[in-house]
Amino acid sequence: MEWEIVIGLETHAQLSTASKIFSDSSTAYGAEPNTQASAADMALPGVLPVMNRAAVECAIQFGLAVDGHVAPASTLARKNYFYPDLPKNYQISQFDEPVVEGGSLTFFVGETESTVALTRAHLEEDAGKSIHENITGPNGNPATGIDLNRAGTPLLEIVTEPDMRSAAEAVAYARALHALVVWLGICDGNMQEGSFRCDANVSVRRKGDTSLGTRTEIKNVNSFRFLERAILYEAHRQIELIEDGGTVEQETRLYDADADETRSMRTKQDAHDYRYFPDPDLPVLTIAPEWIEQVRASMPELPAARRQRFETALGLTAYDASQLTMQRATAEYFEAVAQALPADQAKLAANWVLGELAAALNRAELDIGHSPVSAPQLAALINRIVDGTVSNKMAREVFGAMWEGEHGADADAIIEARGLKQISDSGAIEAMVDQVLAEHTAIVEQYRAGKDKAFNSLVGQVMRAARGKANPQQVTDMLRQKLDG
Ligand code: ADP
Ligand code: MG
Repeated sequence: MEWEIVIGLETHAQLSTASKIFSDSSTAYGAEPNTQASAADMALPGVLPVMNRAAVECAIQFGLAVDGHVAPASTLARKNYFYPDLPKNYQISQFDEPVVEGGSLTFFVGETESTVALTRAHLEEDAGKSIHENITGPNGNPATGIDLNRAGTPLLEIVTEPDMRSAAEAVAYARALHALVVWLGICDGNMQEGSFRCDANVSVRRKGDTSLGTRTEIKNVNSFRFLERAILYEAHRQIELIEDGGTVEQETRLYDADADETRSMRTKQDAHDYRYFPDPDLPVLTIAPEWIEQVRASMPELPAARRQRFETALGLTAYDASQLTMQRATAEYFEAVAQALPADQAKLAANWVLGELAAALNRAELDIGHSPVSAPQLAALINRIVDGTVSNKMAREVFGAMWEGEHGADADAIIEARGLKQISDSGAIEAMVDQVLAEHTAIVEQYRAGKDKAFNSLVGQVMRAARGKANPQQVTDMLRQKLDG
C-alpha cells in the first residue's frame, strides 16, 4: 500500500526588536532571571499594553516578502489558558484577523523547485519559562521557578497550508523560511536560543485519496535535523497504526530527541478551549498604505528578486541562483566576486563560491562572513583561470594555499612562489605534442582506427609530460590540428 505524508508547519520566529511587544523591557537573551520583566510582563494590576511599532514593521516586512496581504486593520486577541509562566492567564495573540494573510514561499528540495502556500502570519507575545533545575523551595525541597524575562518577547507565528508531502520538503521549507527572516533582519534565527521553532502537523493518507487524514501536532522542534526525524518517526507511527487496524487520534505530541520518538502530550479531549476574544486594552492595529510603502522602501533586495536577477542578468541556472540566495552574505560575496570578473564568467564565479569555497567553509565550520579568503582575493584567483595563467586544477591548489593564508592570500604571489604558472607558450606545447605523438604510435593508430578514447589518452600523455602545467585547451587544439588537420 502506497502512503502519502501530509505536513503543515507553524513556525514561531522571535522578532529582533530591542524591547518587548507590549512593554519597554529588553528582549536581550541570557540575562539573570526576572531582571527583564517589567510590571506589564509580570501582569501587575492596572498595567496596560502598548504595541511596539518595530514589531509591526517586522510583520509588514514579512508580509511584503512573501507577497501576502498586509491587513489594513487587524485585531489583537486574548488566548486564555492557565499556566504558571503566563501571569496574565492569557496570551495576547491574533485570532480571526491576523496582520498578514496568504502569500507563499518558493524553494528547492534538492534540485526540485517547490512552492508552499502560507495561510497567515500573526503577531503574539511569548510566555515566560519554568525552571525545574537547581531551585529549592522554602522547605528545602526541589521546586519550580519562574523566569519572566522571555514573557512578552514579540513573535511572528507563520502558518502554512498542508502543502508539504515529505519530511525533506518540510525541512527545505523551514530552512528557506529561516533564511528569509534572517535575510530580512527581522529574526536572528538562533535556534539554540529558541528564536526559531517549528510545530509540525503530520497526517498520512493512501496515495490518491483527496481528503486529509487525522493529524497530530508535534510541538516545539528547534533543529532542522530533529524536524526531519520527528516527521519521519510520526508518519511511520501513523502508517503502522492504520495498517494494524487502528485509527490516528488528533493530539499534541512531543519529540524526544534522545529516544528519537514522539510521545503523546495531550489528546483532543483535553484540548484547551482558549475562549479567544478581542483584547479590550489594545486598539485595532491599523496599517496605512503609506506605512507599508515606507517599510517597503527600507527593505533590502529580497532573495526572490535577487535570485531572478542572478538568473536573467548573470545567466545562472535556477538552482545555482537559489543556492546563492539562501543567505544574504553568500549573495553579497558572490556578487562581489562576479563583479570583479569579465561579464561572461558569472557561472565560473558561482561554481567556485558553491563548490570549493562552500566545501572549505563547511569543513572549517565557518560562515561566509568569516571566510579567510575574501571576495576580491577569490576573484583575483578566478581571473587567473580566465586569462589562462592557471588551470582549474592548479587553481584549487592555489585556493588551498590562500585558505591557509600563504603570501597574504594573494593568488599571484602564490602562483609565482609555487611555480604553478600554466604553460601557454605554443612553441613549448607543440614540442611536447610532437614528442608524445612520436613516442605513442600505437595510441595514434588506435585513434586513427576510430577509437575516440585514444584521443583523451594522448591529451593525458602531453599533460603528464608537462607535469600538469600545460594549458589543456591549447593541448587539445594542437593535438586535433596535428591528428586531423
Ligand atoms: P490549529 O490552529 O488548531 O493548530 P489549523 O487548522 O490552523 O489548526 O492548522 C494548523 C496547521 O496544521 C496548519 O499548518 C495546517 O496546514 C496544518 N494541518 C491542518 N490539517 C492537517 C492535516 N490533516 N494534515 C497535516 N497538516 C494539517
Ligand atoms: Mg496549532
